[in-house]
Amino acid sequence: MERGTKTEQVEEAAAYLGLSGRTIWRRLAALPEWHDGEYVVDDLVDSIEERTCGYCGNPLPITASARRAYCDDICRQYARRRRLARQDSPAAA
Ligand SMILES: [Zn+2]
Repeated sequence: MERGTKTEQVEEAAAYLGLSGRTIWRRLAALPEWHDGEYVVDDLVDSIEERTCGYCGNPLPITASARRAYCDDICRQYARRRRLARQDSPAAA
């Protein structure tokens, strides 16, 4: 299949990921490769798909920073509670 224009790729990626084209453009603008004229939409999709929440396994929001490990504060808190509960568990003693 012939590769489309950047706009087509962005629209495709947006539809695939269920995000707005504007979000994809914003995310792409942060990638240095994009400015070199390379089409990196596929790479972006891959990188987004690889990133999932450490608690529920849902994909992280596209706007999540590189260091973010959970999809939201609730998952972050539950993951912390689960970790603490494991440490307190008598079965582990
Ligand atoms: Zn989550």
